[in-house]
Amino acid sequence: MEQRRVPRKVIPFPVQVGERPTVILLRGLAARCPACGARHIFEQVFRMKDRCPRCSLKFERVEGHWIGSLGVNTTVVFGAMLLALMGITFAVYPDANVPLMLVVEISLALLGPLLFFPSSRMLWTAIDLLMRPLAPGEIDPRFVKVDPYRDRPTGP
Ligand SMILES: [Zn+2]
Repeated sequence: MEQRRVPRKVIPFPVQVGERPTVILLRGLAARCPACGARHIFEQVFRMKDRCPRCSLKFERVEGHWIGSLGVNTTVVFGAMLLALMGITFAVYPDANVPLMLVVEISLALLGPLLFFPSSRMLWTAIDLLMRPLAPGEIDPRFVKVDPYRDRPTGP
């Protein structure tokens, strides 16, 4: 008898971990684990753990994973620079305070990417998880509420 192959349903990450997408993104922004909200992912500003100390989520999900965090970091810092430039321009209009603009913009350009580094990495991991749900072995199964490999419907 031929066995029917039933494709496994893709379960979205928020359903997998039983958390709202907003909470997942906010955890990332706070440089916490997007899956369980654990802190202390970063040992130093630039040294992070490979896996979450609580749920053992592997942060570097694929090779080149951190390219996305670079994009997030660049976008946020450029956005902040634009807002600062607009703010100063409107505040002193019609005059132009060029020295102030230079100091603020250069400070943001130099410090922004460093200060935002931890958040950009975890925020990108959160975005990536929302686009590409967990695969088996990526996280401690106790933290998965709905798992298509575990919670398969029984019956004919
Ligand atoms: Zn975790």
